[in-house]
Amino acid sequence: MINLKFPDGSERKYPEPLTAIEVAKDIGSDVGRSALCVDIDGEMFDLRHEIDRDSNIRFIDFSDEKGKEIYWHSTSHIMAQAVVRLFPNVKVAIGPAIEQGFYYDFESEPFTDEDLLKIEKEVKKITKENHRFERKEVSREEAIEMFSSKGEIYKVELIEALPEGETISVYTNGEFSDLCRGPHLMSSSVVKKFKILSTSGAYWRGDSNNAMLQRIYGISFPTQEEMDLFLKIREEAEKRDHRKLGRELDLFSFHPEAPGIPFYHHKGVILKQLLIDYWRYEHDIDGYREIQTPQLMTKSLWETSGHWMNYKENMFVTEMEGSENALKPMNCPGGMLWYKSKLHSYRELPIRVSELGHVHRKEFSGALTGLFRVIAFTQDDAHIFMRADQIKDEILGVIRLTHRIYKTFGLDYSLALSTRGEKYIGRPEDWDIATKGLKDALDEYGQEYVIHEGDAAFYGPKIDIYVKNALGKAWQCGTVQLDMNLPERFDLNYIDESSEKKRVIMIHRALYGSIERFLGIILEHFGGFFPMWLAPVQISIIPVSDKYNDFATEVHSRLIKEGFRVEYDDRSEKVGYKIREADGVKKIPYMLVIGEKERDTGKFTVRRHKSNDTFELEIDEIILKLREECKERILPEGYKVEL
Ligand SMILES: [Zn+2]
Ligand SMILES: [Zn+2]
Repeated sequence: MINLKFPDGSERKYPEPLTAIEVAKDIGSDVGRSALCVDIDGEMFDLRHEIDRDSNIRFIDFSDEKGKEIYWHSTSHIMAQAVVRLFPNVKVAIGPAIEQGFYYDFESEPFTDEDLLKIEKEVKKITKENHRFERKEVSREEAIEMFSSKGEIYKVELIEALPEGETISVYTNGEFSDLCRGPHLMSSSVVKKFKILSTSGAYWRGDSNNAMLQRIYGISFPTQEEMDLFLKIREEAEKRDHRKLGRELDLFSFHPEAPGIPFYHHKGVILKQLLIDYWRYEHDIDGYREIQTPQLMTKSLWETSGHWMNYKENMFVTEMEGSENALKPMNCPGGMLWYKSKLHSYRELPIRVSELGHVHRKEFSGALTGLFRVIAFTQDDAHIFMRADQIKDEILGVIRLTHRIYKTFGLDYSLALSTRGEKYIGRPEDWDIATKGLKDALDEYGQEYVIHEGDAAFYGPKIDIYVKNALGKAWQCGTVQLDMNLPERFDLNYIDESSEKKRVIMIHRALYGSIERFLGIILEHFGGFFPMWLAPVQISIIPVSDKYNDFATEVHSRLIKEGFRVEYDDRSEKVGYKIREADGVKKIPYMLVIGEKERDTGKFTVRRHKSNDTFELEIDEIILKLREECKERILPEGYKVEL
């Protein structure tokens, strides 16, 4: 008897071995139809895999990330099959699934638009031909023979690089065979909708000393609705790419002379400062004290913190008078020294110390992407020092603060708790107290969270906070990390009720993560149309002709004195053009058009961006209304999130 257990707790018994697809069909036609592959005791297999022993079974469909990966990766085999059919001289390299879709690399002439259309057509044909994906295990010699006879030099190179004794499998769909670990779909007809997204050159194994290959990116879906939604979101995401918006809104730029480090333009500085001002406001409410620790500190400090042994290759090290110093990659060691600068009593705890620390970390140049991956950035760091009985309340405080901040930007978020893994330092009972503190805080907070069992860093459990932007893209921004390591290394204590020294408990936490990255995230989230309080330019003043310049200048200086960020557009362009530019390109929240009526009556027609509705008010009323909008940090239309 084979006993199979399913995620819902149910069990099924079978008298003899059977394939996964037979089990799926036995459960019901729905499962049989939607299953793409199967997870057996934590390992992924094809649906044709035979189950011959008691196991835990989970069927994977397209809604699962793993399911998408297999669907997309299988489509890459089909696309390679189509390319080889149409262009028999190409050599195939690799074709993995990526976050959105997949790519395949070929040694070939660059593909023309016409070629790509042909490939798309051929893929559709192959999916209809309904080829089974057949798995076959082969010896190293067989595999090398098989691919070298076809001149597939890249495959041979991959096989030769596999460690001795590794199982080598080949998947065949129709006339096409590919070296692959799998698993795969049952057949090519499971792929319903397919599209080529783009092409680019790519070096074999990412190394510029190697041959330049041609990469084709593609995507596939089970239904047309899913494909349409994907293409719509993609189009919108391209419009909102923060690098493009950064240029268009004149916020920042990058230069080859400083790889991975942004140059902030005037409006970018304003935006960054506004993020920091707001952050300080919320942290003041919660009783944080802000400090600043040095950029450059001695090797001995980094030895104490452990960075010199574990993180040195990511640090910028410099020399002075024969001794080595490093630019800080993290703020923690500085914060620890601050704590040690005097004795602390139990009555002082908790102490919440924040620092907007500018850090430098080495990155591979290929990994740098706009503001999302940079070499120098400002972390919105804080360290909280406390007693064991304060863990729950402090964590709860951090989550509530995070909630206030994210909701102000209209960002939804989710929470994940990571618990102790195999490698850890400290005593298990301390871990239990710490993990319970985090868990109790999450439970009391009441929002659902997931537990990543065994995923914690070796020095303590943590809570990760993921934000989701307006297009549904998720980012890990916030972290609340309990640390049992640094208080030991730096010998951080407090004096308890009976005048005894006790080890202090410490958490690191960041909410924006880095100001740079968060700025990139909200740029894409708002598509550049910032809420009034955050817009680098809030009001554009547009006189209808030179005749009204004196009056318009008066209004301009009045609004500036009232604390608004105002632009005065006196170019000799048409009014309609100026309005369209202020609204659509510069994305300025309000436009004040000034002409005869305004001058004579003192009443202004105020135009709100992205909408045709206008309202008519006197200047004092406008000031009150807009000031209120800033004070309440009102979100633009469509970003309403309840607090
Ligand atoms: Zn494959
Ligand atoms: Zn830290």
